[in-house]
Amino acid sequence: SDLFAGSRFAVLGLGRNGAAVVSALLAMGAEVQAWDDKSPPGPDDFACGGDAARFIASPLEDLTGFEALILSPGIPHHLPAPHPVALLAQQAGVPILSDAELLYRAVRKAGSLARFASVTGTNGKSTTTALLAHMLEQARVLVAAGGNLGTASLALPLLPDEGVYVIEMSSYMLERLESFHAATACLLNLTPDHLDRHGTMAGYAAAKRHVFDNMTPRDLAVIGVDDPYCRIQAQELIGKGLTVTLISVENPDCIAGISDALKDAPTLPGTHNLQNALIAQAMARHLGLSDEVIADGLRSYPGLPHRQALAATIDGIRFINDSKATNAEAAEKALLCYDRIIWIAGGIAKSGGIEALAPLFSRVARAYLIGRDAPVLRETLDAHGVANECVDTLEAATLASLAAAKALDAPVVLLSPACASFDQFASFEARGTHFVDILSKLSLATDGQQ
Ligand code: ADP
Repeated sequence: SDLFAGSRFAVLGLGRNGAAVVSALLAMGAEVQAWDDKSPPGPDDFACGGDAARFIASPLEDLTGFEALILSPGIPHHLPAPHPVALLAQQAGVPILSDAELLYRAVRKAGSLARFASVTGTNGKSTTTALLAHMLEQARVLVAAGGNLGTASLALPLLPDEGVYVIEMSSYMLERLESFHAATACLLNLTPDHLDRHGTMAGYAAAKRHVFDNMTPRDLAVIGVDDPYCRIQAQELIGKGLTVTLISVENPDCIAGISDALKDAPTLPGTHNLQNALIAQAMARHLGLSDEVIADGLRSYPGLPHRQALAATIDGIRFINDSKATNAEAAEKALLCYDRIIWIAGGIAKSGGIEALAPLFSRVARAYLIGRDAPVLRETLDAHGVANECVDTLEAATLASLAAAKALDAPVVLLSPACASFDQFASFEARGTHFVDILSKLSLATDGQQ
């Protein structure tokens, strides 16, 4: 397709997302100038559908004549520290857009009326995005999901009128929208951490404004109102006359319709997933799904890898891979879900360590600690009287955990490290995959013994 023929785009930041955007733009016939502050790439770095000659990998002095500048999600464009290229764009009157905006434009240019659902918030974005997409698939709706996590928005396929895009948006993506119009958009939650990045609440309000700005009363905004920042947001949207569904996990009326289905949903444990499920449900209803299909979707949702995923069951003991839990806050969500836990934790601790988890330590029958900061975690556990041991590797921890689970009659071994993985692994994904590999060897071995 030549949807962007004759348009020139500048792309700064060539990580995974940026590279996908360049390829997609070239495939749609655009002229692209792309570069990265760190490593100047060559045209061979991209699987270009278009003519590689239109790809120039050098920085620019002037952005006049470009249709837009696309910045990688993490590159700031406003005060206090805008990237110099963002300033160039502002001087030349060139809009700074996210690729979700470009996807929206491409879909409409192609004449498709496909609808958009957008998911944002501090926590639970990927889960809610994947869950909503899964519900739509169950209902045989043509769906394309991606954005902040997974496939870059612009690399998603063109859908016909009846299709639905489910786009996970980081806060940076939100503030780089212009015409993007969501049929339904949610704000899951907002923690103060998240606000730090945007300076102030007002800064965040400006950031997410665009996603709700283009909505009409026929669209649906879904807001998780269990934190004060979101309540303010909901009031504002209601004040503007938009249709808003308020979701609270503390409100029995809210959860009445979903709790039965969730009881049978093994991949959505915990109150945090109740919030995600309620929000996906509200969005799915607005997109025309019946409560029956939604309940089916909850029960059959496969879960995302490395987020409280059931990795193996050996001798009746469930091994849970929650490698994505790279801080104490995330590990807390997992610890809350089980009663007698053999806990594998450790790696590179965040400031504060695991002290904040102390109220949940009574659930931990024994802990195995790995990685650089194992001694730091050990100190905390010792202080609270939790049995623990430092071991060298995840493999050793896993083997010891199986034995301990049997000896202590604990039904669950939980890898929820509360730490980053970089001391021993390339990423949290690599850590989780390694855990799964260890377990498949272990279950082969234990099967062999029987
Ligand atoms: P994100 O994409 O926003 O990072 P994920 O769906 O990948 O979120 O979940 C990451 C982790 O965040 C989960 O393992 C869980 O610990 C926590 N989490 C998920 N949903 C929520 C929620 N609604 N509220 C608070 N924490 C959550």
